[in-house]
Amino acid sequence: MDIDLARAWVRAIAVAVGRHRDHLTQLDSAIGDADHGTNLDRGFTAAVAALSDLTPDTVGAVLTKTGTTLISSIGGASGPLYGGAFRALGKALDTPLADPPAFAQALAAGLASIQKLGTAAPGDKTMIDAYAPAVAAFEERARHGTGFAAAAAAAADAAEEGMRATTPLQARKGRASYLGARSVGHQDPGATSTALIFRALADTVAKP
Ligand code: ADP
Ligand code: MG
Repeated sequence: MDIDLARAWVRAIAVAVGRHRDHLTQLDSAIGDADHGTNLDRGFTAAVAALSDLTPDTVGAVLTKTGTTLISSIGGASGPLYGGAFRALGKALDTPLADPPAFAQALAAGLASIQKLGTAAPGDKTMIDAYAPAVAAFEERARHGTGFAAAAAAAADAAEEGMRATTPLQARKGRASYLGARSVGHQDPGATSTALIFRALADTVAKP
């Protein structure tokens, strides 16, 4: 991961979130307050704009700016959660070039940030259910010396599998938890956007 790739990743997330905005909002209307798509669309559009004014000299500068912008532009729970995760990634990547093991460590710092702030565990039907398996898949590939593209593709596949697995779960964190058993049978909006974020990474690395 270099500076250009980090920028391209954030742009690709913005495009994906824009394209899936209505779907994300629809998912959130079933078990939340119908704002997840508009929240993320606003946040990542603002992040792309903020990056156009930035001359970063590290990967971390790009990701920290992204995180700070998400925190200040998203009203919902996902703003501080994703914003904090990108800031943690940024802090871990104080370098112009990160190899897969370094990026795996940064992803783990992002996960720790989400868990520290949101106190959700795997199985609580949140973004963690897509994020945690994605980090594990990336780490596993990085440990075996796999290239960045293959590690990112494995992470995206794992995130999508984790996303689908949220459907039968009952929510124990966030707004959806207020529904109790009625949250069962719906895919979690945040796990869905996390899968988009990892797929955007895989696509960007494969075709920068
Ligand atoms: P809000 O719930 O404030 O309207 P969003 O709709 O933007 O915020 O985001 C909802 C998503 O945030 C959920 O689908 C879930 O994945 C995630 N989420 C909510 N609370 C938590 C938490 N405590 N930990 C991790 N993720 C959470
Ligand atoms: Mg919402």
